[in-house]
Amino acid sequence: MKDLNGKICMVTGGARGIGRAIALAMAEAGADVVINYSKAKAAAEEVCSQVRTRGVRAWAYQADVADEEQVNVMAEALRKDTGPIGILVNCAGITRDKSFVKMTRSMWDEVLGVNLGGPFNATRAFLPGMFEQGWGRIINISSIVGQAGNFGQANYAAAKGGLVSFTMTLAKELARKNITANAVAPGFIETDMTKDLPEAAKQQVNTLTPVGRMGTPDEVAAGVAFLASPRASYITGQVLAINGGMYM
Ligand code: NAD
Repeated sequence: MKDLNGKICMVTGGARGIGRAIALAMAEAGADVVINYSKAKAAAEEVCSQVRTRGVRAWAYQADVADEEQVNVMAEALRKDTGPIGILVNCAGITRDKSFVKMTRSMWDEVLGVNLGGPFNATRAFLPGMFEQGWGRIINISSIVGQAGNFGQANYAAAKGGLVSFTMTLAKELARKNITANAVAPGFIETDMTKDLPEAAKQQVNTLTPVGRMGTPDEVAAGVAFLASPRASYITGQVLAINGGMYM
């Protein structure tokens, strides 16, 4: 269904994993796509080529989402090069895991800076373009860990939980501007982020997940594409769990 024709979608951290799958799903729905990346230029360009095979336009733009100045420079360049962004998917994220007693202040700051500061910076930078269009979609990639906590992830859980309440507040403040804000909370998904989990931990995830396996990036992207679509116009401030039933 090409119901996003004429819209431009920004995916932060779109060069691989869940962000890459979201970029392709948006292209399938007819949106032009901007891939934001921090370091992986070649991977971002590869996603752009894949996006273009779906008959839409694609661009790759560098910015560390934790750096407000870099995000603002990227947004300014995009305004000139592509026109205003209508759909913002805040997907860039990192982990720096350690049990809380061993977690350093820098591990805390780094994760909060990217996973929560990033969405702050990008939302601030792209909102004016949504106001101009009188339409917008903000979709924040949270996590099951933000809903339930997780051993060794106090920093990540705090950021992802904060992202949920940030989303709800945006939903309340922006609804009258025809802008929805929703979050997606994936469970354990097969990407680079989870590939180094010990085999025993992966087995435990499978045991604790009613569906009995980890999810795929495409399964997350399908939910994001739905929230961006006109079919989701009355859905705002929600958290869509895509977790195989692991947390309900
Ligand atoms: P990934 O590590 O494969 O992808 C993360 C992407 O974010 C990478 O392309 C990386 O370069 C980019 N990125 C990191 N820091 C950045 C920065 N400062 N500026 C711009 N880009 C940056 O991981 P993924 O599993 O695809 O994760 C995507 C999102 O989904 C993350 O927010 C993650 O927290 C969330 N998530 C993942 C899982 C999972 O099990 N994989 C579960 C729940 C939520």
